[in-house]
Amino acid sequence: MKTDFPIAMDAPPQDNTSEFILRARAAERPADPLVSCLLPAFNEEGNILPMLETLHTLMNDLGLRHELIVVDDGRRDATVERVMSAMDDLPVSLVQLSRNFGKEIALTAGIAEAKGDLAVLIDSDFQHPPELIPAFIEQWRRGYDMVFAVRSDRNDESLLKRTFTHVFYGLLNFGERNKIPENTQDFRVLDRSLLDALNSMPERNRFMKGLYNWVGFTRLGIKVRTDPRRHGKSSFNFMSLLRLAATGLTAFSNVPLRLWTVIGAVISFASIAYAIYIVIETLLFGNNASGWPTLVVAVTFLGGVQLLSIGILGEYIGRIFTEVKQRPAYFVSRVVRSRQLTTKSQDQQ
Ligand code: UDP
Ligand code: MG
Repeated sequence: MKTDFPIAMDAPPQDNTSEFILRARAAERPADPLVSCLLPAFNEEGNILPMLETLHTLMNDLGLRHELIVVDDGRRDATVERVMSAMDDLPVSLVQLSRNFGKEIALTAGIAEAKGDLAVLIDSDFQHPPELIPAFIEQWRRGYDMVFAVRSDRNDESLLKRTFTHVFYGLLNFGERNKIPENTQDFRVLDRSLLDALNSMPERNRFMKGLYNWVGFTRLGIKVRTDPRRHGKSSFNFMSLLRLAATGLTAFSNVPLRLWTVIGAVISFASIAYAIYIVIETLLFGNNASGWPTLVVAVTFLGGVQLLSIGILGEYIGRIFTEVKQRPAYFVSRVVRSRQLTTKSQDQQ
């Protein structure tokens, strides 16, 4: 195992906490905690076994009791078979969702299954360097309830994606007191208090980065590198990112709604000013019945603005509709726990 942690500790930590609170939290940490490692997996047949083995070795080296939770998010490959083949050797729980619900829901299902005093959320594709976990857990022991990875750079991404992300966070955080930090990842350590808080939040439109941030508690961001994916390919394309952005915006921001009040007000004032101008002009110079282009521009512009704002209202109403239907956020088709986990929990009873 590598011991040199390539963490830029000199980078400004995103820290919202006083020493006093930290010391109090640190004093409450159990001496022999159970760690739940959560792995959302969608078509990860090439990665999942090496990942589970790496985590198991890492946790054993650290002398930590642990459970490895794989949430199979409706795979179309041999991910489940691979996980089942490790049942005898590793402390694994397999939570199989009834179809592909997307990563946010897979994480939600994993958090619901986690029994640990803390959970490590990590992608199954080795993009989040597992050797950094000890440093994360160390900060948890120091009293931080959430330790999360901040991308050291986004150079691996296209300019379009970077600009898009920047605009998205700008909109999301506009005028907000509790800002959602940019460039964070789903590579995190969460304390039990956070896991309980997340489990208690019933919404179906789940934008996890927003939820982690909303619940509060003590938190620290650590800058980390992102490695290339080992096997397979990313399941996120531009459309799925757009969908996630729409979920995030509508779930955490009213700015898109309020924007139309402002635009409406500006347009109204401008039209009043223009009306006054026309009256004065007619009085002074008479009316020569010009102004056809102005009329067309005004009508089409206002039509466009109205349609756009109705579209945005529709987006919110659609989300409200999903919430009021009160459907469960997901269904689990099967849970399989390795014998090591079930016998251990029976011992404890
Ligand atoms: N994932 C998932 N459900 C999905 C898509 C992705 O559980 O519908 C998992 C995937 O197996 C991986 C993590 O989420 O562990 C990140 O996905 P991916 O690597 O495809 O995204 P990227 O790293 O490119 O953002
Ligand atoms: Mg990935």
